[in-house]
Amino acid sequence: MTRCLDCGSERTADQCPSCGLTSAAAEVMFRRRFLKRTALFLAGSLLFPYLSQIYPPLDLDLMLVFFGLLFFVALTLAVILERRARRHQELEILKRIYAGFIPLPWILAATLLLNGKLDSQKKVAYHPTTVDSRYNMPGIVRGTRRLFVRSWREGEKYERLAVDADDYDRFHPGDSVVVGVEPGALGIPWYYGVYRQ
Ligand SMILES: [Zn+2]
Repeated sequence: MTRCLDCGSERTADQCPSCGLTSAAAEVMFRRRFLKRTALFLAGSLLFPYLSQIYPPLDLDLMLVFFGLLFFVALTLAVILERRARRHQELEILKRIYAGFIPLPWILAATLLLNGKLDSQKKVAYHPTTVDSRYNMPGIVRGTRRLFVRSWREGEKYERLAVDADDYDRFHPGDSVVVGVEPGALGIPWYYGVYRQ
């Protein structure tokens, strides 16, 4: 016999000795909670790309790739959980791992927001550089606009600045610019603005 899908206690009969639910009832309860968690995760995942652009970190694209992977793993877990629940198979460990994924988009978004929000405007550092190229991908929420400039950081060749539509239209490859960067209250440097040199 497996564990109860709802409360996780060991079960020797169809009815759980701990919570009193039959295996069918426990599946219904599990599904209800599972849907709520999944909805919370999806809402955070939809908001994260938008919220991460308010105080965009210099390494935003790297973070979005990482976030994409996280999203994919969580979704795979959700599919496996759903299947195992339908077959009334053991899912205690998977359930806990999945629960750990649920707040991640919210935690990541909050980290980036606090990182920018708590920063002092006096700490902006200005780096002179040149525009190398531009990249524009229209999207549902805000689209993805990047200004590629030569990097001032060691080991980096280019910085991919998450610019707004105005700055995207204003600058062209070859332009001399100054890029304002904030250190970030939590140590994550973020892009503050781009100006003509
Ligand atoms: Zn139970």
